Amino acid sequence: MNIDFSKSAHGLIPAIIQDNETKTVLMLGYMNAEAYQKTIDTQKVTFFSRSKQRLWTKGEESGNFLNLVDIKIDCDNDTFLVKVNPVGPTCHKGTDNCWQESNNQEYGFISKLENTIKNRKENASSDKSYVASLFEKGINKIAQKVGEEAVEVVIEAKDNNDHLFLSESADLLFHYLILLQAKGFQLNDVVSILKEREK
Ligand code: AMP
Ligand code: ZN
Ligand code: ZN
Ligand code: ZN
Repeated sequence: MNIDFSKSAHGLIPAIIQDNETKTVLMLGYMNAEAYQKTIDTQKVTFFSRSKQRLWTKGEESGNFLNLVDIKIDCDNDTFLVKVNPVGPTCHKGTDNCWQESNNQEYGFISKLENTIKNRKENASSDKSYVASLFEKGINKIAQKVGEEAVEVVIEAKDNNDHLFLSESADLLFHYLILLQAKGFQLNDVVSILKEREK
């Protein structure tokens, strides 16, 4: 990496800290050459603290370290992007990040679909949407639909029609997202449990 610490004021380069998993921006700090080197050597993000006027390894008192995943310099060599796995909340005020941004895992299109489903739940009787009508019928009916779609997936899995198998799979996933929402959950809650089991 071609980093010119002397180019910036007081030899400090801003470092944007990003959660490697959720992609949320967690905080911003400054690194001088020494802080950068210590970050590389210890694999724990270390800044030069302007208030403390010394090297500051984030988490040194709280234990809420930022474990280094990747560090790179931007297009004109004056800003770091630091990808991390945070240990505990990053902000000293106890939140995940310093801007109180929500730190939920995003699943691209699925997350968009979940939001649409959530809107239909919150405005259940306001339109003629299929999803809204399911929420009106209640959890038992939604759970029954999930059961039906699951059986259809099983049936199509035994055949050789890939198109039907995928189509029924889509039906199942769609209705499962609705059931999760009806129970007050999202896919992220299920993924968290799977991640816990991995440990
Ligand atoms: P820590 O590095 O987490 O042990 O915190 C030590 C001290 O650093 C705290 O008491 C705060 O003064 C400061 N501090 C910790 N985290 C942050 C942060 N995200 N932004 C600004 N200051 C922080
Ligand atoms: Zn730049
Ligand atoms: Zn903060
Ligand atoms: Zn179906």
